[in-house]
Amino acid sequence: MSRKGHVPLRRCVGCRCVRPQAELVRLVQDGTGAWQLDLARRASGRGSWVCADSPACRTPKRLGRTFRAQTEAVCTLLGYAEQIQPTAKPQSRSGGLNV
Ligand SMILES: [Zn+2]
Repeated sequence: MSRKGHVPLRRCVGCRCVRPQAELVRLVQDGTGAWQLDLARRASGRGSWVCADSPACRTPKRLGRTFRAQTEAVCTLLGYAEQIQPTAKPQSRSGGLNV
């Protein structure tokens, strides 16, 4: 029985806030223990979630507790996710139209 309008909630490992799943990026540990982006949110294994729209949640200081030695690699992955995620707001560019 699923209630209409129910939103799955996940906790961000950066700020510990609980938010709707759609607003976070999922990372999952593969068979070798390496963290990978799971943009489809369907990979099996141990998963962790980080806010998709909050750079403050992606600092090594905040993520170090969860990702340990891989913190730097995870920060890089999250940088890619930010570019891929459609949630990113379009930014106005200056100097794009020179006539
Ligand atoms: Zn967060």
